[in-house]
Amino acid sequence: MKSKDLIRDFISLLYPRLCFACGNSLFKHEQVLCTHCLFDLPRTNFHLQPDNPLDKVFWGRVPVKKTAALFYFTKGGKVQHLVHQLKYKGRKEVGIYTGIILGAELKKTPSFDGIDLIIPVPLHPRKQKKRGYNQSEQFAIGLSESTGIEMDIKSFVRTIATETQTRKSRFARFENVKEIFKVTNPLALENKHLLLVDDVITTGSTLESCANILLQIPGVSISMASIAYAVG
Ligand SMILES: [Zn+2]
Repeated sequence: MKSKDLIRDFISLLYPRLCFACGNSLFKHEQVLCTHCLFDLPRTNFHLQPDNPLDKVFWGRVPVKKTAALFYFTKGGKVQHLVHQLKYKGRKEVGIYTGIILGAELKKTPSFDGIDLIIPVPLHPRKQKKRGYNQSEQFAIGLSESTGIEMDIKSFVRTIATETQTRKSRFARFENVKEIFKVTNPLALENKHLLLVDDVITTGSTLESCANILLQIPGVSISMASIAYAVG
């Protein structure tokens, strides 16, 4: 055994690396997820099913070409724990890793061919400052790495909500989502098939708002992908 390996094993005895989903110790060849979770976490495989449950979330609301989600999200389950590490524990690598896995799956199916750009749902600037990163962007980085499709984080942004918006009623605030997301560079997105990505899809209302704004750009079409889909 090389001394480098010995040191690494010694360090991992002191600070064991844990699976971000189940909390068991990782072997040195494992990253983010233990082998058991990698194969056993509930995968949706939506990208292989036409008219899948996630497609149906958007039916009658906004035109979406294809949808994909890596895992099913259940309250109190391992996937929730995994996403929690990404959103609240500073574990950016969870986003990148899940993006790489889903990207590799999407590459196997021709139905996801022809996507021009990956656009992560922009995070509120104040939230991003506090968290240090946008979790959807980390997922997009992984997707971009494994599919070779470029990511664009500059052409579609979230602007700072004003004081008056936060004082409005819940319904009015929802209506205002439209004004919070903004296209800054329509020319960069014109005639492009965009893959809009978010961490977890529940009601789909954030993605719906984003898609409605992006679809105003001539020639744009939209597909969607997420780390997890929470059955409503
Ligand atoms: Zn595990």
